[in-house]
Amino acid sequence: MHVIPSKFPGLQPSIFSVMTALAKKHQAINLAQGFPDFDCDDKLKELVSKYMEAGKNQYAPMRGIPELLERIAYKIKQLYQQNISALDHITITAGATQAIFTAIGCMVSPGDEVIVFEPAYDSYIPAIHAFGAKAVPVRLKAPDFGIDWNQVAAACTDKTKMIIINTPHNPTATIWTSKDLHQLWSIIKDKNIFILSDEVYEHILFDGQIHHSIISHPELFQRAFAVFSFGKLFHNTGWKTGYCVAPTALSKEFRKLHQFNVFSVHTPTQYALADYLSDPDVYLNLSGFFEQKRNFFIEQLKDSAFQLLPCAGSYFILADYSSISEEPDTVFAHRLATQHGVATIPISPFYSEETSTKIIRFCFAKTKDVLEQAIDKLISI
Ligand code: PMP
Ligand code: GLN
Repeated sequence: MHVIPSKFPGLQPSIFSVMTALAKKHQAINLAQGFPDFDCDDKLKELVSKYMEAGKNQYAPMRGIPELLERIAYKIKQLYQQNISALDHITITAGATQAIFTAIGCMVSPGDEVIVFEPAYDSYIPAIHAFGAKAVPVRLKAPDFGIDWNQVAAACTDKTKMIIINTPHNPTATIWTSKDLHQLWSIIKDKNIFILSDEVYEHILFDGQIHHSIISHPELFQRAFAVFSFGKLFHNTGWKTGYCVAPTALSKEFRKLHQFNVFSVHTPTQYALADYLSDPDVYLNLSGFFEQKRNFFIEQLKDSAFQLLPCAGSYFILADYSSISEEPDTVFAHRLATQHGVATIPISPFYSEETSTKIIRFCFAKTKDVLEQAIDKLISI
């Protein structure tokens, strides 16, 4: 009998797939996996068709079509006042996931260490392990999930190659301030450490807060890969289109790997996005759009047994259910989906070590109607 050795014996199916499958099986309302239940703009779909009809159906250039790269460089200039070279600094990717995997893959080697803040988005650590490096978790401190910078400094060793940051943060919905960027710089400036900055929720910040991109900090940017997702921006997560912004030398390394694991990304979509981005309102209005949903969700659940935690950005909100149940979060989330008809995400899978929490994550990127149906179920618990 031929034995197939598993390179990843401990790796389980992602919690997002698990909870979405559970929601489908039990016809539960899916506030679990992070995707909108409403469609993207018809105009954007029409643009993709237009470019398909126009014959834009062959390989795009490896880094992306110049029209889209230029639009992104312009957007960055407007938002973060930095001059980015469209051709040298930006690479269009198959979603942020591929950008994350490629940025990690082109930098880390066996024996290297990568610092991740936990709870951490689920793709980081498997990617670190896939390239033979070690993940070094630094815990964000509940209940506000702030960063202990002394702990970060202590976690840095001669082997530290990279630190992965994420703002607005999934799953805690916290955001970084400019002070956080300065703290990070003061820790790494005399070390050979690079940064992977996951900024897929760049345009979803609430209460008038602004996004502090790593790109806005010129010294940090010289060491950074910043990754973004059009799926999160334009309500079309299934299109799996994103991009990575990095200085020339790092982009060169990134593209060495990118050319052999993807080469290039869906051509008509790139042309469509380039046109669509000509109107800045399509991204500048996103915070207001989701802030209404967040406020509605919080207001409706204020008298429920769930204690909602602060939500400064992203389209997720955490809830403490300890006044309802003593069950571990995975058990509670399973019961909530199967018995009460609402699927959510437990947050213990976002930790590398076994962690007991009484916290689940809701995704509020849903229509008002669906949020109301979920709220009806949640307030009766
Ligand atoms: N990073 C974070 C923090 C996410 O929540 C997600 C999910 N969208 C991704 C990366 C992956 O983005 P994409 O769907 O563009 O691959
Ligand atoms: N980013 C989404 C979330 O956090 C899920 C993406 C995925 O399913 N891989 O829910």
